[in-house]
Amino acid sequence: MNEIERRRTFAIISHPDAGKTTLTEKLLLFGGQIQVAGAVKNNKIKKTATSDWMEIEKQRGISVTTSVMEFDYGDYKVNILDTPGHQDFAEDTFRTLTAVDSAIIVVDSAKGVEAQTRKLMTVCRMRKTPVIIFINKMDREGKDPFDLLDELEQELQIKVRPLSWPINQGQRFKGVYNIYEQRLDLFTPDKQKVTEKVEVDIHSDALENHVGDADAEKLRMDLELVDGVYPSFDVNTYLNGEVAPVFFGSALNNFGVKELLDCFVKIAPSPHPIQAEERMVRPEEPKFSGFIFKITANIDPNHRSCIAFCKVCSGKFVRNAPYLHVRQNKTLRFSSPTQFMAQKKSTIDEAWPGDIVGLPDNGIFKIGDTLTEGEMIHFRGLPSFSPEMFKYIENADPMKTKQLNKGIEQLMDEGVAQLFVNQFNGRKIIGTVGQLQFEVIQYRLENEYNAQCRWEPVSLYKACWIESDDEAQLEAFKKRKYQFMAKDREGRDVFLADSNYVLQMAQSDFEHIKFHFTSEF
Ligand code: GDP
Repeated sequence: MNEIERRRTFAIISHPDAGKTTLTEKLLLFGGQIQVAGAVKNNKIKKTATSDWMEIEKQRGISVTTSVMEFDYGDYKVNILDTPGHQDFAEDTFRTLTAVDSAIIVVDSAKGVEAQTRKLMTVCRMRKTPVIIFINKMDREGKDPFDLLDELEQELQIKVRPLSWPINQGQRFKGVYNIYEQRLDLFTPDKQKVTEKVEVDIHSDALENHVGDADAEKLRMDLELVDGVYPSFDVNTYLNGEVAPVFFGSALNNFGVKELLDCFVKIAPSPHPIQAEERMVRPEEPKFSGFIFKITANIDPNHRSCIAFCKVCSGKFVRNAPYLHVRQNKTLRFSSPTQFMAQKKSTIDEAWPGDIVGLPDNGIFKIGDTLTEGEMIHFRGLPSFSPEMFKYIENADPMKTKQLNKGIEQLMDEGVAQLFVNQFNGRKIIGTVGQLQFEVIQYRLENEYNAQCRWEPVSLYKACWIESDDEAQLEAFKKRKYQFMAKDREGRDVFLADSNYVLQMAQSDFEHIKFHFTSEF
């Protein structure tokens, strides 16, 4: 297979605790990257540590090395992009989703669809990212599989098609039938390694012998019902983001994971063409292009530099070759680009579309920057979502104004939070998804930029990007709401609504103005 066709670049996403880390680890186990489970540190910021900033710093360090996990699986090259587990860093996850070709969503069988799952699915839907759903923890007493499927369709607004089916659940969970391959492999549950499997013909008595009469009969009936209710699987509907194949299993016990992985590599898309502002860029084009989707600061105080993560979109990335940094119109060479393996990173000489390359960054990159062999193209901006929390950021040490401004600029370039400047009083407002981000910003300003900040409350409900074809109405609106008008970092007009009521009134009073809750429209 050629280098592009064999690549599968995806993210595993979930509500915290559904089992993303466990599943990732099991995939690495099948990929031969690790021999025993438990070897990969998860990059979760543990809830108990939310007040211990050193701990967060340490954990952020871990997330640098586990940001991308690559392994070969049969003929395929699998690239898993890790996403932070803590929901206060959801923005990071949204951005990572711009660099993947597909996603696997993990859902807890007892909890069903949770808040974060819904939000992440919205992003996938916006971008038409193909998704596969893995319903995890079937070894627990959870919801009925058919009910779960209905819930997925309703809550995630996507059609589903089961491609594996659980044999019982809870303590009597015995494995999954592989609908995609029409075969049943039974494993002995083992939390740590891959065990021997037995192949069972479900149309013979062998099934009864292995799982007992009641479960054998139930499985056959369930499968008939599945085929009756759900249209047969058409891979194109999955690739178009219309239908999500569903797999059941227990990541912890290694059940259903291989079924998921085997099907995933076969049906998941290889790197697809990416829309730049100027034109469509196809992966098979001979010339290299790529964009930066994530920047992670280095926690080692002796090596202040960051790592910028570049997704290769076309051509071949080659070490030491001259590449154009389009925004700065500057030619750069990278002598030590890195790739990431389970826990270590190593220097690479080349990378292909779909691969992620780590580039040393001492403040030259911004999220969304494009690299090419010379062509002036710009990959489309990444969406910003309206933050959930807002605070004024004030300088607490007047001698360090410069440091503070530089720190804020760089942290925003990294995408840690969003900055809005109120047009009425000129004050800076930082918007985040969660409280934790404010604390990280304050900590990092102090430790990396030697600057002190202070937070002051501002009561805001949402940030809306506004636009209109009706110039006069737009001007009238800005005039009426002048105290609540701000600019984002790209200089776009943002209306900071202080309550849902105010926002609704504004929407009905100014019907020619569009209010957007994301910056990509
Ligand atoms: P994440 O927050 O989504 O990364 O979730 P983790 O992978 O850390 O899992 C959260 C908890 O669920 C951990 O205590 C896991 O051991 C547990 N867990 C994960 N998969 C399973 C499973 O299949 N069955 C059961 N019973 N527990 C699981």
